[in-house]
Amino acid sequence: MFKIIYFKGLIIIFIFRLLYRWRTKTNQIVDSRKTTLEILLLSLLFVGMLVTPLIYVFTPFLSFADYQFPSWVGWTGVVVFTIGLWLFWRSHADLGRNWSYTLELRKGHQLITSGVYKYVRHPMYAAALMLGVAQVLILHNWIAGWSSLVSFVALYFLRVPHEEQMMLNHFGEEYQSYMNRTGRIIPRWFKK
Ligand code: SAH
Repeated sequence: MFKIIYFKGLIIIFIFRLLYRWRTKTNQIVDSRKTTLEILLLSLLFVGMLVTPLIYVFTPFLSFADYQFPSWVGWTGVVVFTIGLWLFWRSHADLGRNWSYTLELRKGHQLITSGVYKYVRHPMYAAALMLGVAQVLILHNWIAGWSSLVSFVALYFLRVPHEEQMMLNHFGEEYQSYMNRTGRIIPRWFKK
């Protein structure tokens, strides 16, 4: 049952991403900081989010790594997944044409500081983390459950310092003051 719910969530995410890729396709890129390691981790994340859950749902190959959790854990996962999906959608909507799957600045790039970006600098990564945690709670398997979270955490630590440096170089003072009033993935008011 949980496998089916998870699967439906995945379909929504992928349709959504494709739509945004298509919408931002014509935007010109002026600064790109892709690195091989980042592309590698992004590919790993893709495998963790899609390939391992697909193998898990449709074949018995990963069942050796199953463990048991009570069903309320799965339901908590569904709630976390829903919130993560909402945040994922909102951050795409707020970032609009400035979105990229990798570290890039586009022509006429605007610094977004409103909507969900008013509270945290990386709402999309916060959403991805929530979806990763939800996967752990929904898929009770050492491989299919944990594969997204592990690769995303690695990607997060690699990417965020580079991303912030890129934004600082480009937007200077404006980004610095934005950094002073926001948290990375946890709003500032929780830190005071
Ligand atoms: N880190 C953000 C955005 C992820 S998409 C988040 O988690 O929500 C990655 C691209 O978004 C980067 O290449 C950068 O060009 C762009 N970006 C990141 N923060 C931005 C902001 N506040 N305003 C505009 N573009 C931003």
